Amino acid sequence: MSERILITGSRDWTNHRYIATVLRIVREFHPDAVLVHGDCSGADRLSAALWQRWGLPTEAHPVDWYSSCDHTCRHGRRRGRDIDYCPNAGMRRNRHMVALGADLCLAFLLPTSRGGASTAQLADQVGITTHRFPKGVKP
Ligand SMILES: [Zn+2]
Repeated sequence: MSERILITGSRDWTNHRYIATVLRIVREFHPDAVLVHGDCSGADRLSAALWQRWGLPTEAHPVDWYSSCDHTCRHGRRRGRDIDYCPNAGMRRNRHMVALGADLCLAFLLPTSRGGASTAQLADQVGITTHRFPKGVKP
């Protein structure tokens, strides 16, 4: 089975060079890995675009806003512009990606990225080697 690299991080991440530098190094050690991501703007899509440009496989897990609530939901569904949605749908998707397993998790975090920080924490908790960027900044 192919190695899996899980990407998480901020939708507001715009530093393409930074991600390219990290992924180039990671590619050296995991040249055949599948890059697993949540298809959000920012860190997810920048990472996936690079990986694809290098001819390597990616696996996208976009949020299904129409998905049903589960037992962890303690809220009513919210009314969006055109749909009723579950505000936990993103978190549910993140848990799913972590549960699928990964050899490595790369988290590109800005102070605003709660989803990315919690996904990195989940990955940590199940024993996935998790690296947070930028280094030295606590999520
Ligand atoms: Zn819900």
